[in-house]
Amino acid sequence: MSSSLIAQEKEPSNYNYNDAFGHDFYSKNGTATRSASGKPGHAYWQNSADYTIDVNLNETTKEISGSETITYTNNSPDTLDFLWMQLDQNLFKLDSRGKAVIPVNGSRNGDKGQNFDGGYGINTIKLIYQKGRRSTEVNTTYSIVDTRMKVNLPKALEANGGTVGIKINFSFTSPDYGSDRMGVLETKNGRIFTLAQWYPRMSVYDDVSGWNTLPYLGAGEFYLEYGTFDVNITAPSTHLVVCSGALLNPSEVYTTEQQNRLKRAEASDATVMIRSEAEVTQPNSRPTNTPTLTWKFRIENSRDVAWASSAAFILDAARINLPSGKKSIAMSAYPVESVGQDAWTRSTEYTKASIEHYSKKWLEYPYPAAINVAGNEGGMEYPGIVFCSYESKTGRLWGVTDHEFGHIWFPMIVGSNERLHAWMDEGFNTFINSLSTEAFNNGEYKERKSNMHRMSSVFVNDKLEPIYTSPDNLKERNLGVLAYYKPSTGLILLREQILGSERFDEAFTAYIDRWAYKHPTPDDFFRTMENVSGEDLRWFWRSWFINSWKLDQAVTGVKYVKNDPTQGAIITIENLEKMPMPVVIEIKTKSGTVTRKTLPVEIWKRNVSWSFKVDTTEELTRVVIDPDFVLPDTNSSNNKWKATDGATSVEILTGYLGVYSSPAFPMKVTVSETNGTLVLEAEGQPALPMESEGSGEFTMEEAGLSIQFNAEKNGFKLDIGGQVFDLKKE
Ligand SMILES: [Zn+2]
Repeated sequence: MSSSLIAQEKEPSNYNYNDAFGHDFYSKNGTATRSASGKPGHAYWQNSADYTIDVNLNETTKEISGSETITYTNNSPDTLDFLWMQLDQNLFKLDSRGKAVIPVNGSRNGDKGQNFDGGYGINTIKLIYQKGRRSTEVNTTYSIVDTRMKVNLPKALEANGGTVGIKINFSFTSPDYGSDRMGVLETKNGRIFTLAQWYPRMSVYDDVSGWNTLPYLGAGEFYLEYGTFDVNITAPSTHLVVCSGALLNPSEVYTTEQQNRLKRAEASDATVMIRSEAEVTQPNSRPTNTPTLTWKFRIENSRDVAWASSAAFILDAARINLPSGKKSIAMSAYPVESVGQDAWTRSTEYTKASIEHYSKKWLEYPYPAAINVAGNEGGMEYPGIVFCSYESKTGRLWGVTDHEFGHIWFPMIVGSNERLHAWMDEGFNTFINSLSTEAFNNGEYKERKSNMHRMSSVFVNDKLEPIYTSPDNLKERNLGVLAYYKPSTGLILLREQILGSERFDEAFTAYIDRWAYKHPTPDDFFRTMENVSGEDLRWFWRSWFINSWKLDQAVTGVKYVKNDPTQGAIITIENLEKMPMPVVIEIKTKSGTVTRKTLPVEIWKRNVSWSFKVDTTEELTRVVIDPDFVLPDTNSSNNKWKATDGATSVEILTGYLGVYSSPAFPMKVTVSETNGTLVLEAEGQPALPMESEGSGEFTMEEAGLSIQFNAEKNGFKLDIGGQVFDLKKE
């Protein structure tokens, strides 16, 4: 009876509890800039960039030209010998890296085959040094590498608060389709320009990578410094212009009637029309017939600014009520093609509801307006303004509007590095969208909860990279799952199955508060969630975010104490894949009583298989693990045990226990019971668990072993591979 004969029959498990729960999760300790608790450290610093931009729109040539003056402040402890800037429009140059990586079968990124040679024209860059009231301007040299520009500083920028002004004249022709983030849409009443990535922007210098200089290839979004933007946009006077922030000169750009309507909207929870469908084609819906008008906007605490301009715009608005009592304004700009109660006529209602929900639930909306613009993008977000498809309708329009405005919180307020960690903005946003959608208009567009067993193959399969992959480093077709749905589902699991909504919401709110208008990294998020909830979650980050591990929980056995159902049941479960999760078990007994038992994830800290007792007094008919299908269990078939799966006749073991022997057999044999299983142990040999076959017969097939008790239960026949011995109870 060698030990190899006693291996129990079961599915092999891929689970390794040391891989899941090992303590070496964080690769670095807390630092002066990033605390081990997940907070910004005591010496946290961040640079800032304030912009004044004057720009012209040429409707016919689609050219945008102008100048900007950036006041850049170096709060880092390092002197800076040069600056890096982002020239995102250079993605649309024919020889850009972003164009080079577009596959033959097309992409969401790039210019969608317009085959157009875009990019910035930049001729001089001046540095402005301020000394008291006197400012001096000097020309400087610069070099452009794809979508990056290095600006040389003749004298280094001082650490801890040194400032420099950078003045740049720039121009570009807008692509019609700008990587699904900006562009030009032709409509019946004129072109709609949705303009973003439109001015040279500062790269971020941080304590993580120094200068962040990854090129803009299309999929990876943005990483930007905060500051104040003053933007003056000169457009044809037939146009309405909307832009991030507050409009500073409404009396110059709107008719008197429109100004009055705007005032009404500022006091109205119902949508107020500012320029109606009928008025779009009426020249008197504009205040002047001079060729151009200049619109002036300002936004503070912002990492970016975007705008839209068109003669085709219908405009409506309503008041947004914020928790502090402050007000903002929801506004929609769309062409006649988008009108309809099932379409953009409800856009302002959606915008208002979305902003009010997130403000109440997480953090108050900080900007003076929230504007939804109908464009040719699927959906794209900027501070205070978003671009959504002019063709979206009903639940899809709600969904895209709510999603793009959810981005105000991630990454506009919580300013993570989108180019590296898309899941920290798209995923977190998709998660908050699920709560907002549930709440909107008594669940008008509420979605049914999906069966997570069925969804599991979407989240974990051999074709998927881990979530923790930068967007330019994963297959384009996987971005939707890895940046949006899988991380969002991870947060839902954390909230609903691991921490509970109260503890989760407290920690998630702390993350938002701690990192509002700052630059968190993944560790800052992980550490905050663990510190505030007080829970070690490294096994979860590892399974779901860092690796692409599967979950497979199984019910592998149901026994009774002493094989007597009146004394309670013993259920054995196993973790068959690499991801551990807490356990919910539903138990049904013969009389129809249904109970549930929950077990913490700690059972998997040192076990692949776990047996536990359930206090019942009758036979079980069904045992189900994860009965609500809320865990991404990749194999449902082993989640359920039914009475017919086990021994049909229940045998009470008590009568069999004792020590047996025979003059013909060299050893004494002890019959005992463990967890409802009969165990045979010959002197000096390993204990052998025996399967009950009913009517006093017990077998262990792998060992070629069977015993048959006599009716009096005072002896049994022992069959070892055909050799039979008669043993009697001592
Ligand atoms: Zn998004």
